[in-house]
Amino acid sequence: MTHHVHTHSPPIPHDEEERLAALYAYHVLDTEPEEAFDRITRLCCQLLGVPIAYVALVDRHRQWFKSTCGLELHETPREISFCAHVVGSAEPLVISDASADPRFADSPLVTQTPHLRFYAGAPLLTPAGHCLGTLCIADRAPRIPTSGTLDTLQQLAAIVVDELEQHRIRLLLRQERERSQRATLELARLNAELKQAKEEAARANRAKSEFLAGISHELRTPLNAVLGFAQVLEQEVAAGASTTQVQYVEQILKGGRNLLELIDELLGLARIESGRIELTEQRFSIVPLLEEGAELVRGLAAAHGVTVTLESDESAAVQLTVCADRSRILQAVLNLITNAVKYNRRGGWVQLEARSIGGVWVRVSVSDSGIGIPVPRQRELFHPFSRLGRETSGIEGTGIGLVAARRLVEQMGGQISFSSEEGVGSVFWIDIPQAEQDPSQN
Ligand code: ADP
Repeated sequence: MTHHVHTHSPPIPHDEEERLAALYAYHVLDTEPEEAFDRITRLCCQLLGVPIAYVALVDRHRQWFKSTCGLELHETPREISFCAHVVGSAEPLVISDASADPRFADSPLVTQTPHLRFYAGAPLLTPAGHCLGTLCIADRAPRIPTSGTLDTLQQLAAIVVDELEQHRIRLLLRQERERSQRATLELARLNAELKQAKEEAARANRAKSEFLAGISHELRTPLNAVLGFAQVLEQEVAAGASTTQVQYVEQILKGGRNLLELIDELLGLARIESGRIELTEQRFSIVPLLEEGAELVRGLAAAHGVTVTLESDESAAVQLTVCADRSRILQAVLNLITNAVKYNRRGGWVQLEARSIGGVWVRVSVSDSGIGIPVPRQRELFHPFSRLGRETSGIEGTGIGLVAARRLVEQMGGQISFSSEEGVGSVFWIDIPQAEQDPSQN
């Protein structure tokens, strides 16, 4: 022999890696003693009349004892382990007299304490068939066990596996409980944060509305002065000034008027948002309101080369009565019509329509043959100052109108909604609570 070979090394089973993975999944190595396992080793000693019994789990390089009865060891190297032979074959092993068995005679477990002579081990087989270790009995004197003894040992080994399984399930449950406790805590924390963020946002929003209402006022006064003097200038230069001077004055007036309009809209929105507008409810018929709206945008529509038509079922029209603040509804409807005209094409059309939805709502729709709104931008609609990329289109606007319209309609218990297809057109509609039939008209 050229080098030393341990002729009696326990065999390594073919499923060694899977077996170890299964063993580690139980998370039982190096844990504290547990009564469930100690009870089984005690039972082994009592039932089978032996001084020693233990549960051995065979790790990569050692055997570790989960429970021992009559033995003062915690672990030994795998090399010298009897149980490792059981694991190697996954079969029960009986050694009647180790000192007479050439495989074990020179083992330190035989030649030194605990001076084992007799050994019988039953494999601990997982449901998948991997052998984790053994339940075994031992004695310091030789023995020949009965078949009943071996049968009992195997049955108790099955119970050890059941206990291991329970150990694993308890562990999983504990982990799961801890996870869910952590999740609950996290959720509570997030909720608190959300609440705080909401309160902060509401506070900031109120502050913003108040600021806007205040500043709009401060801006209007000097601006009106600028506009007033520009008008005077316009009349005076008309007589003798050069064309460029006339153009400058026109620019001042145009810019000033735009600015004033923006300020008015801002002031309006700030009022609506801070809840400082008073709504006066009254019964009114919706069709005349649409006629009025169509009339008001006539000039704008002509300038854009757009035809505005009104569709209404005359017989139903009398019943299309709503209960709301008429001037605010007109404001909201006008915003929709103005948009339908502005975001249209030359030669295009706008159609107004009113009808009842189940006698509960009156729906006012404004359809157009305009440029439409690309789907990815549609969710920006109704966001203050959002012009959806039209800010460079040359079409004037502020991105405030729809926000204000929505707030107004909602404050009156209604809804505003739309559908749009890019390059085809849009439909915007307002649903207003329909008024009860007036008994005096029947
Ligand atoms: P403004 O018209 O002053 O920009 P609005 O709040 O009324 O503000 O509208 C916001 C944006 O929604 C507009 O800038 C425009 O891009 C888009 N939009 C509104 N109505 C229509 C419509 N009928 N067709 C296409 N785009 C529209």
